[in-house]
Amino acid sequence: MGPDLRIGSGWDSHAFVPGRPLRLGGIDIAHPSGLAGHSDGDVLLHAVCDALLGAIAAGDIGSHFPSSDERFRGADSSTFVRHALQLVEAAGWEIVNLDATVILQSPRLGPYATRLRENVAALLSTSGSRVSIKAKTPEGLNLPETAMAQVVILLRYKQP
Ligand code: MG
Repeated sequence: MGPDLRIGSGWDSHAFVPGRPLRLGGIDIAHPSGLAGHSDGDVLLHAVCDALLGAIAAGDIGSHFPSSDERFRGADSSTFVRHALQLVEAAGWEIVNLDATVILQSPRLGPYATRLRENVAALLSTSGSRVSIKAKTPEGLNLPETAMAQVVILLRYKQP
């Protein structure tokens, strides 16, 4: 019998607004506009969080961190990911790999690729070789002021 596996998917979108810091994958990115949201608007980490929660059928980011809750205003989305990871680990699972796509017109994420990958891997207590973060521009979608993120994550049950 092979290993017990779970797959999770996450998706999120946020609108760019001028004069807000841009935070993606837990790192600050130099750009004249940032992402709107109750928290820091980190669309990538929100999708990571939903993929983790989805893989263990533990609800979604909104059920754990409601945007109606003032405690989460301006929150660092890293705390959401850490919480989701704790639930995953407490249920006996570990990360096999994560594959993410960030879709946005600008800025280009190439210069940040290494830091993004390393930071997300560190947040997930896994190695960079298990984390892939790709960037695409939204060709034909007519969404220049929107950032989207899509994440798939595979978990493996740890041997007792
Ligand atoms: Mg979100």
